Amino acid sequence: MDKTDAFKAHRDRAAPLLATLQRDGIGHLIDGHIVPSASGETFETRSPIDNAVLARVARGGADDIDKAAQAAQRAFKPWRDMPATQRKTILHKVADAIEARADDIAVLECIDTGQAHRFMAKAALRAAENFRFFADKCAAARDGLSTPGDEHWNISTRVPIGPVGVITPWNTPFMLSTWKIAPALAAGCTVVHKPAEWSPVTADLLSRLAKEAGLPDGVLNTVHGIGEEAGKALTEHPAIKAIAFVGETSTGAAIMAQGAKTLKRVHFELGGKNPVIVFDDADMARALDAVVFMIYSLNGERCTSSSRLLIQANVAERFIEQLIARVRALKVGHPLDPATEVGPLIHQRHLDKVCSYFAIAKADGAQIAVGGAAYNGPGGGHYVQPTLVIGARADMRVAQEEVFGPFLTVIPFADEAEAIAIANATEYGLTGYVWTGDMGRALRVADALDAGMIWLNSENVRHLPTPFGGMKNSGIGRDGGDYSFEFYMETKHVSLARGTHKIQRLGVA
Ligand code: NAD
Repeated sequence: MDKTDAFKAHRDRAAPLLATLQRDGIGHLIDGHIVPSASGETFETRSPIDNAVLARVARGGADDIDKAAQAAQRAFKPWRDMPATQRKTILHKVADAIEARADDIAVLECIDTGQAHRFMAKAALRAAENFRFFADKCAAARDGLSTPGDEHWNISTRVPIGPVGVITPWNTPFMLSTWKIAPALAAGCTVVHKPAEWSPVTADLLSRLAKEAGLPDGVLNTVHGIGEEAGKALTEHPAIKAIAFVGETSTGAAIMAQGAKTLKRVHFELGGKNPVIVFDDADMARALDAVVFMIYSLNGERCTSSSRLLIQANVAERFIEQLIARVRALKVGHPLDPATEVGPLIHQRHLDKVCSYFAIAKADGAQIAVGGAAYNGPGGGHYVQPTLVIGARADMRVAQEEVFGPFLTVIPFADEAEAIAIANATEYGLTGYVWTGDMGRALRVADALDAGMIWLNSENVRHLPTPFGGMKNSGIGRDGGDYSFEFYMETKHVSLARGTHKIQRLGVA
């Protein structure tokens, strides 16, 4: 199929799905039933392509969260106590259901978020992988340690913490929510999910698919709504034992405060201002590909994006010249068009935020080498020109603040020590990327970077068993492999006496 045919095929696939959304709207999934809000209130979700209303969405409040949390509470013990092999089978069936609808999920995600189809085509398959990977760990999740003492045999085991809240953002919502929900369910927890209000469409589909696949009622509940309403109520609910949150750093801080009264355990995956450091001995062609990919894919709306390029001064001119050509050639367009590399940003408010950094860059004395304005794309939605800012210093706002758009800030450095100092001089610490031909230097820099995840001579490549998470203001905790279970489970210690130890005798005359 050529690109024009594929574009048409994506539109044709989306049309009946959109008609259903228009007709039925989006409700909550509570205790296995799709229901409106107790208040009857709704809000609109609009497409970033043309601002068209996609659906009216139930606007959840404290009452709806309470019902969902109670349903999750009731479902918890039967789900926890179900044999692991049975839970594993159900979670694989959810993965099957996701795979069967992968193409529908891809087009809906594009229309709801503005992400380009070339990146969303595999999003559902990755989500299915999340379910399969953690399904296979259902039994091992409870494994513990044996730590024998002289007179006691000590063993530990893990038990699921209880009903948990999962709060997710809008950038790649389907994949991200499964990344949190799948390990929670595999651990034996039940879930109340509050998806982002700007991208509720595929969360609705996920809850329906999970139900159809045989997930028992109440095990996964989805309550739509506004962060400060439904989200806040979820973080404050006493039946919810932990909150897994992905979103902005300031929201994470608010959630921590909101959850304090009920002593919520929190896991935060927050913002980033990630450096990609290119040394003069790097494989420049591969480095260039990775630099462009890691900031201009996914509209730059990506927590792990390398939004700061630190380039060694002696090769900066040549590298920037090539970079300028590549950024100019990026194809901005309709997200369903297979040729599109950069689609419209999620929302007018986000577009305004990204565009505000053009003036900020200039006011601080940096230069805009490419882009620097909104873009009139198909549908007239929230498009922006891919932007490259050069001549920046590490202390400028464009080098410090997360823009979360297709916006790259270039900062030159003289040597290894300066590269490390600049890389670490932000409040964030999510990822770092290092390009060099000198393996010793690569390892030295990896050791010195304050970041939770570091790739040497590579862009971000997902590997499910490895720890995913950030330092400093980029987060608390790690996901992936067994790390996810540390969050969703309590470690329980059991001590068995050999009957040989002396017990102090009190109250004996
Ligand atoms: P956001 O913090 O505005 O919203 C995220 C979610 O939190 C939404 O569902 C929202 O409704 C909810 N929320 C907002 N206020 C709340 C409150 N007071 N109580 C409870 N819930 C509340 O983030 P966003 O704009 O949707 O997403 C973009 C951000 O997410 C960026 O900063 C990005 O870096 C970050 N992100 C991080 C990762 C990671 O893994 N580190 C991954 C993706 C996105």
